[in-house]
Amino acid sequence: MALRVYDVMRREVVELRPREPGRVGMYVCGPTVYGPVHIGNARTLVWFDMIRRYLRYRGFDVTYVMNYTDVDDKIIDRARIEGTEPDVVAKRYAAMFERDMAALGAQPPDILVRATDHIPDMIGAIRGLIDAGLAYRADGDVFFAVERFPDYGKLSRRSLDEMRAGERVDPHPGKRHPLDFALWKAAKPGEPAWDSPWGPGRPGWHIECSVMSTKYLGMGFDIHGGAGDLIFPHHENEIAQAEGLAGHGPFVRYWLHAGLVQMAGEKMSKSVGNIVSAGDVVAAWGGEVARYWALSASYRTQVVFSEDALTDARAALERWRTFAAAAGRALGAPVAPRPGLVRPPGTEGRGYPARFVAAMDDDFNSAGAFATIHELVRTGNRLLEPAERGDATARDELGSLADDFAELTGLLGFRLEAPEASSGLVAGLVELLLRLREEARASRDFGRADAIRSGLGELGVVVEDTPSGPRWHLSGGPED
Ligand SMILES: [Zn+2]
Repeated sequence: MALRVYDVMRREVVELRPREPGRVGMYVCGPTVYGPVHIGNARTLVWFDMIRRYLRYRGFDVTYVMNYTDVDDKIIDRARIEGTEPDVVAKRYAAMFERDMAALGAQPPDILVRATDHIPDMIGAIRGLIDAGLAYRADGDVFFAVERFPDYGKLSRRSLDEMRAGERVDPHPGKRHPLDFALWKAAKPGEPAWDSPWGPGRPGWHIECSVMSTKYLGMGFDIHGGAGDLIFPHHENEIAQAEGLAGHGPFVRYWLHAGLVQMAGEKMSKSVGNIVSAGDVVAAWGGEVARYWALSASYRTQVVFSEDALTDARAALERWRTFAAAAGRALGAPVAPRPGLVRPPGTEGRGYPARFVAAMDDDFNSAGAFATIHELVRTGNRLLEPAERGDATARDELGSLADDFAELTGLLGFRLEAPEASSGLVAGLVELLLRLREEARASRDFGRADAIRSGLGELGVVVEDTPSGPRWHLSGGPED
């Protein structure tokens, strides 16, 4: 079956048929770089990177464009507070964003665009909208006239009256309709400004995305993404600008919106309650745990950020790590995620990858896809003992499962390296204690041997005695 997506414009799941067969152009609204990226924004952008990876896995040639909004009231305010220039603020938080996204395992977009690099393009578009009778000047500002664009409201499915009642609108003496929005803002003293036919000023926020997306992907490109709270007014305004300027639609073939992140309520512990930036989440839980949490619920789901949710993610990820390590020992070859594999339609084969694909082809249903991997791991765990004993059938089956596991976890962007708690020094100390325990047993000091084992158990280190000597892993596995 073909890949299906939920198109917000149509409010239904439809088959993804790109403008050009086999090629997908995708534009996603990136951050306004005035502060650390919030975990909610980060989840949205981790997800659109995941959608790009999955489309590539299914054989599409994808071009992913994302923007930085690097001129904005919030950036100007931040610069005032910090006593510096807006471009210094924008560069600093863009660098921080890139560091946080890398820690979350997200790859950079193919084309990264900055609003301030496209001011002449935006001035050209605004001039075109004025010429088309869709925009008007008011002192040094330029506004889009929503009443002149008959399709205004088609994405959010609201009439002008409903939108007017529902939104706080910015009063401005020169506006003809309260929902008219700024395409160009006259410069105020001390603000960054560019010359324009309407005097010095800067672009409004909405114009950058319609101008930059169509510049790099053309009118009628395939996927426009962003968080659900951008549907109105931002994406509604992008449509009005792009289709108004072109004189026809569609601006975009498929609108995809990510669910928002809810912060858990007062019951959340104090230490977690204060964590909202992606950088803080990564520091507290590690990038892979945060990635697991972000991706294990479908992109459209409204997810809760809570200590419980992250604890569950950590335990689930640990089951995958434990399986990879144990399968590697049983097979005598490391089992590690393999990114970059491709399975175009018709090559899914059978078994777990086919079931994984069936879930992800259904509007990127990652909950089903993750459940498939967990089932694979449960099956694989049952094969470990016979495979280690030398049972050839079990070994073959385990080897095949390990390949599928490496393919699917690699596609999801996991590395499954040892977590900090079992890496380096800690692993060395556990091994040292296990050697001391073996020595104690050899000299029949069973009290000391048991004390070492139970002490490790209290620290979350599970020790198993096998015919080939003691093995250990961190608790959270399926047998614990
Ligand atoms: Zn945007």
